[in-house]
Amino acid sequence: MTIKLYDTDSYLTEFEAKVLSCKECEKGFEVILDQTAFFPEEGGQCCDKGSIDGIEVIDVQLSGDSIVHYLKKALEVGKTVKGKIDFKVRFRNMQNHTGEHIICGIAHEKYGYENVGFHLGEDTVTMDLDGPLTKEQIDEIEFLANEAVYKNLEVSACYPPEEELEKIPYRSKSEIQGKVRIVTIDGVDICACCAPHVSRTGEVGIIKIVDFFAHRGGVRITLLCGFDALCDYRQRYAQTLAISNMLSVKQHETADGVKKLLDDMGKLRGEISEKSKALAALYADSIDETKENVILFTTLNRDEMRDIVNRGMKKCKGIVAVLSGNDTDGYGYIFGSENVKLKDFSKELNSALNGRGGGSDTMIQGNLGAKKEEIESFFKKINY
Ligand SMILES: [Zn+2]
Repeated sequence: MTIKLYDTDSYLTEFEAKVLSCKECEKGFEVILDQTAFFPEEGGQCCDKGSIDGIEVIDVQLSGDSIVHYLKKALEVGKTVKGKIDFKVRFRNMQNHTGEHIICGIAHEKYGYENVGFHLGEDTVTMDLDGPLTKEQIDEIEFLANEAVYKNLEVSACYPPEEELEKIPYRSKSEIQGKVRIVTIDGVDICACCAPHVSRTGEVGIIKIVDFFAHRGGVRITLLCGFDALCDYRQRYAQTLAISNMLSVKQHETADGVKKLLDDMGKLRGEISEKSKALAALYADSIDETKENVILFTTLNRDEMRDIVNRGMKKCKGIVAVLSGNDTDGYGYIFGSENVKLKDFSKELNSALNGRGGGSDTMIQGNLGAKKEEIESFFKKINY
């Protein structure tokens, strides 16, 4: 059995321990110490990071009542080693984990909901409650949680004797065998839990619910606490500042600014569409009826190109070819004719101009991977 030093002191970052065993494994070496401050992956929470005798601890897992440290290098059995916890990672976990207790304690008190899921990963923290919540209820819980932070309440952990435990109205995700560790946040939460927490709620820092959605009849909440919330604020602030500068609007009015921009874009799209239609009509009107074949390079979309082709076919005896694009990206094409059988012609066209596409005898469409000059030259040579 490994003595869990984090059980009694969440703030312990350095410790000495004796190596009880060291076995080679797929990840490197499995090391069991007589005692450790490394919290293993447990209860949905990721494990601690750090080193033992300068060797990086890449994973920490529970195995029965032992804690297994995974290292890249071996440690000598019987040797006394020095463990170091990466406190930045640990404290971030302590902030988020304690924040989760506060949110769950409040939701339990107000709505009787139980916490039925928890995930504290390296990037995200989510928790599942077994009943639904509205946006207003979420906002209220978030407010009360932050109020609990500013009250700087004591967070304590203990193993009460069995007869005392029976009287404690504590929350628990599952039936626990053996001794039960009770974590109490004064007036906010009593919960069975094995993880490290901060000692006073003030250390949690701001608690921000950044997302929630209906999940298995309840709700899944995404949470950010303390430094995670600060980091998120910085990212969001940078985005808001950039949008505010680009649109020349106040930072708290960026959504209005973006809406105006989208409205303006919508209007412009409408205007462009009308002008393009008028341009397509002009192109169609300009087709010289005396010419056998007509080729037009435009900047129009497929619908407008098709409109020109449809109108042009009635005027022109040969092929009406309408293209749109440039020499770098290639050209989209729509060709039409009432007299030339285009199905066969499309094979010749695609093979000569690195093209793809096809259609009916009266209309073909596709793309050409050729330059304008090459297309014009091909067109001059056709004889229908
Ligand atoms: Zn806990």
